[in-house]
Amino acid sequence: MPLLTMKQILDDAIAKNYGVGAFNINNMEQTLAIMSAADRTESPVILQASRGARKYAGPVMIYGLVQAAMKLYPKVPVALHLDHGNNFETCKQSMDDGWTSVMMDGSLMEDGKTPSTFEYNVDVTSRVVAEGHKRGITVEGEIGTLGGIEDGHGADRVKLADPDQAVEFAHKTGVDALALAFGTSHGAFKFKAKPVLAYDIVQAVNKKMPGLAIVSHGSSSVPPELVAEINKYGGKMPGAMGVPLEDIVRSIDFGVRKINIDTDLRLAATATIRKVFVESPEKFDIRDYLRPAMEAMSHVVETRMIAFRTAGKASNFTKVISLEEMAKVYARK
Ligand SMILES: [Zn+2]
Repeated sequence: MPLLTMKQILDDAIAKNYGVGAFNINNMEQTLAIMSAADRTESPVILQASRGARKYAGPVMIYGLVQAAMKLYPKVPVALHLDHGNNFETCKQSMDDGWTSVMMDGSLMEDGKTPSTFEYNVDVTSRVVAEGHKRGITVEGEIGTLGGIEDGHGADRVKLADPDQAVEFAHKTGVDALALAFGTSHGAFKFKAKPVLAYDIVQAVNKKMPGLAIVSHGSSSVPPELVAEINKYGGKMPGAMGVPLEDIVRSIDFGVRKINIDTDLRLAATATIRKVFVESPEKFDIRDYLRPAMEAMSHVVETRMIAFRTAGKASNFTKVISLEEMAKVYARK
C-alpha cells in the first residue's frame, strides 16, 4: 500500500467517529515501535516528523525509514506528515521530499516562538494550502497558541482559540485539519495542576464545520508510572504531568480526530534505558537497551490506538486515493 494522504485517514475517522494518533518519529526504533503497534491492532496511523526530526535524521533517512516500515507492515494505512512547519518554504520542501501532509503553524512567526497576527496566519496558511492542494497533499493549520515548548517550537503563553475566529480561519484558508488551542499543551511539564480542557471550543467549531478534522496537539498523558521509573533510576523529572488519557478520549466525541503524541514515547524509552543502565551496568551492546525501549514505546502506542478506537479500522482503507485523484477533488471545489 502506498502512503495515504492524511485527509483520507481523517475523513474516515470523521465518518466513523474515532481518533487517530499522530506519533513523532526521529529514528528506526520509534518507527518500528509505532508501525508494529499499528499492525498488531490493525490501525491506520499518522507518522509525523518535525523540523527537528528532519534535521536530526535528515529527510531522506526519515522517508526511507517509513518506506521500509511500510514494506514490513504492508497492511497498515500510513500518512507521513510534517509537524509544525514554520514557513512556506519548509512546507514546500517536505512536499518535494514525499510527505503526503504538512502542517503550517502560522499561529507563530517564523521563529516558532512569537505569536503572530490573524492576518499573517491566514496569508501564509492560504499559500501553503494552494501549493499543497495543487499536489493533492493535506494541509493542517493552527489557531490560538498552545502552551509548552517542544523541539524548540512553541509559545510560552497560552491563548485559547476563539471558535468563531477558528471557523473564519478554516473558511478563509481551506485547511483540511485545524489544530485548536483548547487546553492541551506540549511537553512533559505543561501543567501545575490537573488541566481542564475546553471541550466547548471543540464542540462549537465541530458544529459549524463537521467536515473539518480538529487536531489536539500536546496530548501526551505523561503516565506517572513512567515518570516514577525515570526518577527511580537516576532521572530528574519532578512534577511532570500530562493530560489524563480519559480526557483526550472524551475529546474525540466532541470532534477531535488527530491526536498528537510525542512525549509519552520519549518517557517510555528513557525509563527503560535508565533501568537497563542501572540494573545491568555491564551491558554495552546498544541492542540490549534499544530493544526493550522499542517494546516499551510500542506498548504505549498500542494502548493509545485501542483507547482512541483506531484499532480494527485498517480494513476501512481498501482503496488508496492517490495524490492525483485528491488534487482533482480539490480543483473541483
Ligand atoms: Zn504541536
